[in-house]
Amino acid sequence: MTPNFDATAPSNIKPSLVGLSRAQMAAALRAIDLPEREIKMRVGQLWHWIYFQGVSDFDRMTNVSKTMRNTLADHFSLSRPEVVTEQVSSDGTRKWLFRMPPVAQDHLAGKNMGAEIECVYIPESDRGTLCVSSQVGCTLTCTFCHTGTQKLVRNLTSQEIVQQLVAARDQLGDYPGLSAPATGFVPSGEGVRAVSNIVFMGMGEPLYNYDNVCEAIGVMTDGDGLSLSKRRITVSTSGVAPEIVRLGGDVGTMLAISLHAVRDDLRETLVPLNKKYPIADVLQACRDYPGASNARRITFEYVMLKGVNDSPKEALELVRLLKGIPAKINLIPFNPWPGAKYECSDWETIERFSDIVFNAGYASPVRTPRGRDILAACGQLKSDTEKLRARARLIDQ
Ligand code: SAH
Ligand code: SF4
Repeated sequence: MTPNFDATAPSNIKPSLVGLSRAQMAAALRAIDLPEREIKMRVGQLWHWIYFQGVSDFDRMTNVSKTMRNTLADHFSLSRPEVVTEQVSSDGTRKWLFRMPPVAQDHLAGKNMGAEIECVYIPESDRGTLCVSSQVGCTLTCTFCHTGTQKLVRNLTSQEIVQQLVAARDQLGDYPGLSAPATGFVPSGEGVRAVSNIVFMGMGEPLYNYDNVCEAIGVMTDGDGLSLSKRRITVSTSGVAPEIVRLGGDVGTMLAISLHAVRDDLRETLVPLNKKYPIADVLQACRDYPGASNARRITFEYVMLKGVNDSPKEALELVRLLKGIPAKINLIPFNPWPGAKYECSDWETIERFSDIVFNAGYASPVRTPRGRDILAACGQLKSDTEKLRARARLIDQ
């Protein structure tokens, strides 16, 4: 557990309480010498106002005395990430660029700016999915993924992970304590909120930031606050086999595996982590994943790369490999990015692949690329921001 204290932060910046877990909030209150007997009650109050009502001003906490509100405001803020840009795709997908306040790691690296994180919101008729990041960049260098080419890598804190959801809910006016999302977008399912689902499919490998991801999921699923269902949170991994089973036991969310190849030699070139955890190890971890069942299937993601992994033989082998695992197969058309050495398979090839998988009894939806016009699709995150930056640099010169 990481208390949110940043001894390196400039003293004029008040740390935000937004995004903290109960234990982190309690530690923050202890540090300003609140009596121990009051802490649990105060955390409960803050929790309700921050996560259930979505307030961003201590003065709106009407069941907290004025003196206490002043004390809190003297030491803390309720600030959220800055919304640097918002783009809305023709299909309704929204992409935000959030700038987080700097954390200890940023100060230590000599930076006075926090992480910049792109977050994508995908509305559908029966759900609204928010795609969140777990790291800035990624150490794993999968050859088809743009995120893997970014140099700067660091883990996001659990607070930064939760703040992505809070900031999205702010933008959509979507809190359990508010009667209806203020966006005009109301999904049709009973009690379904604008953000009803979370996928850890933004930047980074969530299982390489295990503790912070688990702590953040704890905050997101707390029934007195943000109240997301564990079954509506999917952690996507490139296959960190030992942490897969642990995740099932610790938090019990849904699991997605980025498989992308059926032979170790090919998977090693696409997902270099395969050298450490080959396909057999990853599939064994899936067989051992606590709670997987036909009602709670594991998703296998398979990016369609022209002439690389898209033959009918490979589709048949995929079906054979997954035998006995409660699985869904998600075929993802490759999203190109500048400098990528792959192309997306032809539509007929994808259909042929999908038919083989379907005829073997698997649901095999082809993931419709959403928000391609605003570069919000998988593997495209960060691209346009970097392009804009490069353009800005040229103008500056
Ligand atoms: N690191 C985790 C989660 C983030 S990536 C993982 O690898 O699972 C989320 C998904 O997007 C993964 O399935 C990844 O393989 C896929 N992806 C990455 N780049 C892509 C691209 N250019 N086109 C399509 N899918 C891509
Ligand atoms: Fe990292 Fe996932 Fe991209 Fe691979 S696909 S480089 S694990 S973000």
